[in-house]
Amino acid sequence: MADLSGLYQEVILDHSKRPRNFRVIDDATARAEGYNPLCGDRLTLYVRMDGDKIGDIAFKGSGCAISTASASILTETLKGKTRGEAEVLFQTFHDLVTGKNHSGNNLGKLAVFSGVSEFPARVKCATLSWHTLKSALTGEAEQVSTEADDADDQAAR
Ligand code: ZN
Repeated sequence: MADLSGLYQEVILDHSKRPRNFRVIDDATARAEGYNPLCGDRLTLYVRMDGDKIGDIAFKGSGCAISTASASILTETLKGKTRGEAEVLFQTFHDLVTGKNHSGNNLGKLAVFSGVSEFPARVKCATLSWHTLKSALTGEAEQVSTEADDADDQAAR
């Protein structure tokens, strides 16, 4: 397992140093801002919906390695997915990083965050971009703060 976690760490470091889809989408149909005060992670997520599909998705911001890598892999994973598929992935990813599901099945590259469940303080870093995406897709709030998220709070205790 040591080799596997080493590999996971490499993927996270790679995405944090060279984040994918790190740009503004000028004709975005939705955007939302996310902030994690515990760590200082900030990001703005841009989405251009193409019917029910995510036609384009990108982000800008600054944060720790985990939050940046999570946003980068999120954009890579969700481009071309439908709203419903994105919701299912969010739930599966949330279960993975909060330790409710250790398998990482069906998560593809997102499985690299399985180790986060051992570090409760970092769960908010990993889920920030996902909460922000949810807000962008539902149009609920322009700014998301992880402090308002009860499920993550419980996991952090
Ligand atoms: Zn962070």
